[in-house]
Amino acid sequence: MEKVFHFDAPREKYSCDAAVVWCFDNRFQQGLAKYLKRLGILNTDPIKIAGGAKSLVSPEHETDREFVLEQIRKSIRLHGTSRVILMLHSDCGAYGGLAGGFQGDAKAEAGHHEAELRRAAEFLKGELPGLEVQAYFVDFEGVWAVNPA
Ligand SMILES: [Zn+2]
Repeated sequence: MEKVFHFDAPREKYSCDAAVVWCFDNRFQQGLAKYLKRLGILNTDPIKIAGGAKSLVSPEHETDREFVLEQIRKSIRLHGTSRVILMLHSDCGAYGGLAGGFQGDAKAEAGHHEAELRRAAEFLKGELPGLEVQAYFVDFEGVWAVNPA
């Protein structure tokens, strides 16, 4: 190998404020990151996958769900994570987009994703008792909290 860039990374292990299960759609990255920072969530273990929390509730393959669960378990084991943030967003390709999946009806999409997030949070709490789970829907105008059932 040839060194092509220098930087100093911290060598200390960190404790994770939250593992964040979110979609890799870059349009919503900055908005949610800003909100998490406002909450004081600075050290995150990002689990960025297409569809975000979808894999926990409506996985394309059952193995997807197990994979995400295992990532969360590893975050807990390695970084003492006690909180998980679940995210879904508007116009997500994993749900067919706003136009394709919901005929452009943003209200229907938001309602659908709210229900998905609720079920994802319930599932996760069932699998990993004692974990704090928060769920957010992100659209083009902001971040919306899904209140626990
Ligand atoms: Zn997406």
